[in-house]
Order: sequence, then structure tokens, then C-alpha cells
Amino acid sequence: MECVFCEIAAGNIPGDIVYQDETIVAFRDISPAAPTHILIIPRKHITSLNNLPETDMPLIGHIISIASKLAVEAGISEKGYRLVFNCGEEGGQVVSHLHLHLLGGRKLSDALG
Ligand code: 5GP
Ligand code: ZN
Repeated sequence: MECVFCEIAAGNIPGDIVYQDETIVAFRDISPAAPTHILIIPRKHITSLNNLPETDMPLIGHIISIASKLAVEAGISEKGYRLVFNCGEEGGQVVSHLHLHLLGGRKLSDALG
């Protein structure tokens, strides 16, 4: 396997996993951009939102639902947090395995791009 996120999901390389179930895995970003920076991914290798089959759309709802629960767990839900899907090169996507960023724990920049 060549995908680092598939390797983390499979337990083949270490990841600071904070949640997992049959379909998704959440782990801490190796290079956190905020005090809380968690990545939530589908176990299934889907490269980006561009390649998300309609039948896998429920995964996105599940990923967002777990992100909001992890925000509560991290104690950032009341003060606020940000959820980000980067898609493609100009969207800032570096790892080609669909992932949602959960960012919080400080006042985030107002800039969107
Ligand atoms: P992207 O720019 O693709 O949306 O975000 C990829 C994120 O994955 C980056 O924030 C980066 O720090 C994180 N990342 C890259 N490689 C690894 C890794 O091996 N382990 C973990 N935990 N995070 C990683
Ligand atoms: Zn993958």
C-alpha cells in the first residue's frame, strides 16, 4: 500500500487514533495547525470529494457527525471550531485520501483562502 492514511487506518503505521469504527478512523494530525487538529477519514480509499461515489455520500454525514462529537470531547464545541475538506491541488489537498480536518482550541484566522 502506498497511501499513508490507508496504512494508519490499517494499523500498519502508528497514528494517534482518537476514534474508529467499521467505516471511519480519526487521528491527530502529525503537524497540528491548532491545539486541536484531528483528521477524520473513511477506511475506504477515496482520493477526494471529486471521486466520492454517490453511494458513499452517507460516509460524509457520519464523518461530520463524529467530528462534532470529537469537538465536544476536546472541549472546543462551545467556543467553536472549523471543519475543512481540502479538494485537489488548488484546494490545498496534499494527501490523496479523503479527509476532514477538525481544527480548534484557538481563535482561527478569518481568512478562507
Ligand atoms: P491536506 O493538505 O491534504 O488537506 O492535509 C493533509 C494533512 O495530513 C496535513 O495537515 C498533514 O500534516 C497531515 N499528515 C500528513 N502525513 C501524515 C501522517 O503520516 N500522519 C498524520 N497523523 N498526519 C499526516
Ligand atoms: Zn488511502
